[in-house]
Amino acid sequence: MPIREILTYPDPFLKRVAKPVTEFGPALDELIADMADTMWDEPGIGLAATQIGVDLQLFVYDLEVSRDHERVGVVCNPKFTLMEGEESDEEGCLSVPGYTAAVKRSARVVMEARDRSGNPIKVDATGLLARMFQHETDHLNGILFIERLSPLKRGMFIRRFKKLQARGDA
Ligand SMILES: [Zn+2]
Repeated sequence: MPIREILTYPDPFLKRVAKPVTEFGPALDELIADMADTMWDEPGIGLAATQIGVDLQLFVYDLEVSRDHERVGVVCNPKFTLMEGEESDEEGCLSVPGYTAAVKRSARVVMEARDRSGNPIKVDATGLLARMFQHETDHLNGILFIERLSPLKRGMFIRRFKKLQARGDA
């Protein structure tokens, strides 16, 4: 399956609020396979459709980087019906290469969504799984993790990015 190009900050497509998935079937399965291969190629543990320029509420994940299409997690149209507690941990993003920062997230979430066939799913998650769900769902709402940082840290990121850009490294 072809590896897709991952859009990076400050690409305006990353600010888009994605449309719900309404058509489940072979075309979606093909897109999911491409997304999984693109995620493993980096490798990353999650990838949202908007990161490869596809306007759909869809993300794939694989915390173990199994590179096994049978094991890749698929989430369409996610919604959180419960978010509780708070936890800060280091995050990175394939769309913000070379940068990580501690981000505050809910410690536990209950996510309701659709699977690749359109069947309803409900997942109660904590730890890295909960963090990844929130990070990827943010992508589908046009939000990058750097927007979750304090104004001070975000300002530091932007200054660093501009410096790299001036040097031709970004
Ligand atoms: Zn990301």
